[in-house]
Amino acid sequence: MRLASLFVTIFTALFVWPFTVSAQGLIRDAEIESVVREWSDPIFTAAGLQARDVNIYLLNDPTINAFVTRGQNMFLHTGTIVQARTPNEIKGVIAHETGHMADGHLARSSDAMNKAMRPVILTMGLGLLAALAGAPDAGAAILGSAGQFGTVTFFAHSRVQEAAADQAAVRYMDATHQSGEGLLRFFQQFRTAEVIGGAKRYPYFLNHPLSSERISSLKSQVEASPWRDVKDSPEDVHKLAMIKAKIVGFLNKPEQVKNLYPEEDQSEPARYARAISNYLQASTSIALTQIGDLLKEEPDNPYFNELYGQVLFESGKAEEAVRYHQHAVDNAPTSPLLRLNLAQAMIATDRPEAVEQAILELKQVIAREMDNSFAWYELSVAYEKQGNTPMAKLATAEQAYALGDYGRARSFAQRAQHDLKFGTPEWRRANDIVLVIAADPKIRKRLAQRRPQ
Ligand SMILES: [Zn+2]
Repeated sequence: MRLASLFVTIFTALFVWPFTVSAQGLIRDAEIESVVREWSDPIFTAAGLQARDVNIYLLNDPTINAFVTRGQNMFLHTGTIVQARTPNEIKGVIAHETGHMADGHLARSSDAMNKAMRPVILTMGLGLLAALAGAPDAGAAILGSAGQFGTVTFFAHSRVQEAAADQAAVRYMDATHQSGEGLLRFFQQFRTAEVIGGAKRYPYFLNHPLSSERISSLKSQVEASPWRDVKDSPEDVHKLAMIKAKIVGFLNKPEQVKNLYPEEDQSEPARYARAISNYLQASTSIALTQIGDLLKEEPDNPYFNELYGQVLFESGKAEEAVRYHQHAVDNAPTSPLLRLNLAQAMIATDRPEAVEQAILELKQVIAREMDNSFAWYELSVAYEKQGNTPMAKLATAEQAYALGDYGRARSFAQRAQHDLKFGTPEWRRANDIVLVIAADPKIRKRLAQRRPQ
């Protein structure tokens, strides 16, 4: 009792004062992003937002949290996905966050956050990640490293804002013919757990203060909805199980993977998690057999193909890897990350025509994600292999720029400018980088949007 009341005192104090959450690294993955997008976009649209203008970021953090920041950015901790029991719970949380976003209740985030955003792409090689992080011997430590993302400072939303976001969430779920039950259950479950277990495990409720009145008000709105009994589709349930398995496989220790997905569990998600875990432990032949078995059942699954290709790639079989990455891209042509992996494997083959093709693939990646530092890095490697040093320098300048390393970006842009033909689009882009870096930070972003055609 005493502990509980002490806790309540601390918890109440936190509502008033700004607090910080030390979040872990930003992660990217084609499959997880595709599922979260598919679930979010209809909700964004229902809220009157342009779905494509909303950025969704996944943070490698086992705690439950979700928040929005200025510029239509929504952040989800991987723990929110892993600990959610149904897709409907995640959709409910997304709908609630969308409510904050649509009403302009934006968490403050420090500038340091944006500068420190160096995503780890789950299915890309650890060696490359280490190189990009600027610490060649950081190696395998990166996936598990804390503090990469820096510290985010929030103010807790007010109770009024929470009530408004809850109401908005129910409206968006109604508009998309989905139940608000998941959001309600999510709150009910963690309301109990959070009081017993301590707020630290549930940072979500630090910036989204929860109260009994709030839950009962949400409950009556959810129950009044004509869509309250709508259940998740079996496809969505399966997708959630697969992305949970992927997150656990990539981000948890092998013993934890074995505990959560013991050998006797022969379900597809369990086999997926174990295959990923084996791949990370460099048990290449076991991983290939296990992913190969999954592929036999679903030969066109882009993410199985991607993973199989990646294991091959990392065991030095670039040429074979290309086949699988190409098949992944053919089955999910709008995914920039799958294309990036394809390009990486193509470049490693050293065949001139494959390197040429890789440059075309990378240009498509950059057309969708101009701040993708991995893509710029690979582009610099491809140009270097072609002996096109000026373009390699320009790509390196872009990579450094995307990482916020302005000193290096300027230096490479100046060197590229020196070598490039005066007045060409590439020369102008190098010039823009130099000017942008010298400019006021406020206009820097706007200038940075300029890209050669
Ligand atoms: Zn909230």
